[in-house]
Amino acid sequence: MADLKASSKDLSQFETIDASGKAVLPGFVDSHTHLVFGGYRAEEYAWRLMGDSYMDILQRGGGILSTVRATRSASREELTEAGLKRLDSMLSFGVTTVEGKSGYGLDRETEIKQLEVMADLNRLHPLDVVPTFMGAHAVLPEYKGREDDYIDFLLKEVVPEVASRRLAEFCDIFCEKNVFSVEQSRRLLTNAVESGLKSKLHADEIVRLGGAELAAEIGAVSADHLLHASDEGLHAMAEAVSWPLCCRPRLQPARALREGPEDDRCGRCGCAGHRFQPGQLLFGVHSAGGGARSALCEPLAGGNRTALTLNGAAALARAQVVGSLDPAKQGDVIILENPSYRFNPYHLGVSTVEKVIKRGTLVFDKRRQGECRC
Ligand SMILES: [Zn+2]
Repeated sequence: MADLKASSKDLSQFETIDASGKAVLPGFVDSHTHLVFGGYRAEEYAWRLMGDSYMDILQRGGGILSTVRATRSASREELTEAGLKRLDSMLSFGVTTVEGKSGYGLDRETEIKQLEVMADLNRLHPLDVVPTFMGAHAVLPEYKGREDDYIDFLLKEVVPEVASRRLAEFCDIFCEKNVFSVEQSRRLLTNAVESGLKSKLHADEIVRLGGAELAAEIGAVSADHLLHASDEGLHAMAEAVSWPLCCRPRLQPARALREGPEDDRCGRCGCAGHRFQPGQLLFGVHSAGGGARSALCEPLAGGNRTALTLNGAAALARAQVVGSLDPAKQGDVIILENPSYRFNPYHLGVSTVEKVIKRGTLVFDKRRQGECRC
């Protein structure tokens, strides 16, 4: 404030917001969501809580294939409308930049539709949506045993259009046993990178397949999940983003990542399409702080361990633009109701975000909720 007052700027032309006694943070960056999807799987989640396995639910017609059916049959307008509601919810929790993945179409038409919806959302909502093409999210029954043919299809029929129309910035793949192999992942991602996309991976979530090693080998911008990644793989990739919300029961490899090279990152969270609704990012902060035994500040703030802010931005190749309070960056700022970010995990499940400023403009005010979206 002293610098501002001493400058020659005419402050009278700006609105002044008094943030005395309140914490001011960079807008949160949620670097992994599947926010555009049709239908919902709340019943399935209830079944999971009652002890049914994912395979039981799949046999009842549930799982990702049920979301694929609902997303294929939803119109672009319906998906956009649902997406806007989710973005409103995220904004109220302080998220100012969010990544969104396709991957609930698994055909050309619906994958493109999901990415077009994200372009619509970017136009209609102040929150920035970073689109990722994830046509290799699952293997449809008709492609079981012919996964290579499906990768061929994506490379021939979908990736060129996604790249030439600039519908996505990243290409992602579920590199996992019984899904896509390391070799198939390498082939898709290296070709996508040649087309101008950047690479990401869902890696080593269920078994140790070598996804972390592949991420390091091809210089992926991020790799997520990593519950079963090898120590060698983790150390090979200083660029990892782990994900406590999706896989909360197990201890994250956050510690291993933190003990890796200096610019590592840990404790990521925030899932829209799998099981949790958007906006529960701060619940993820709690999970990362408790479940993964990271120090409270690590998922949120402090040094270079800033999973919801600077490292989230790095996972989206935007560390130069967002993720910290810096005069050189765009003005994405949140003001909390409380004097410290420590109130977030302390007030579990409740948003303590009072105001959100996006690119210098007030776009959310809890006290005037619903009025403020520009
Ligand atoms: Zn995912």
